[in-house]
Amino acid sequence: MDNCLFCKIAAKQIPSSVVYEDDELMAFKDIHPAAPVHLLVIPKIHVPTLSECDASHTVLLGKMLALAPRLAAEHGCAVSYDADGVPAGGYKTLINTGPDGGQEVYHLHLHMYGGPRPWRGQR
Ligand code: AMP
Ligand code: ZN
Repeated sequence: MDNCLFCKIAAKQIPSSVVYEDDELMAFKDIHPAAPVHLLVIPKIHVPTLSECDASHTVLLGKMLALAPRLAAEHGCAVSYDADGVPAGGYKTLINTGPDGGQEVYHLHLHMYGGPRPWRGQR
């Protein structure tokens, strides 16, 4: 897509802080982080929103979500358990979809927020 910000990031026409890349996906740091760790996972192909996805996108969507635990481990926010089994760490994954979903960039992306709270606008 000609005028898509995240297509340009995927094509390296616009710089970003890339933290992961393979043939299908890229992950980079959000330019306005809302948490100590705030990453965006995108497909390299242009898909405007989750609303355009169907069963043919199942593998792609699965790969996007399955990347989150790896990124979490690499950025210090994986879930861990103490000797009593009490969990610590963790992160939030989010896909904003359309205007009512709060989407601003119309290229499918998965937000990944992590790190110690409070986060911007959240406890
Ligand atoms: P959304 O509201 O779900 O569409 O989120 C779009 C996200 O893209 C926001 O969190 C922005 O801070 C982020 N963003 C916008 N431009 C850039 C950029 N050039 N590099 C990295 N993140 C960006
Ligand atoms: Zn795009």
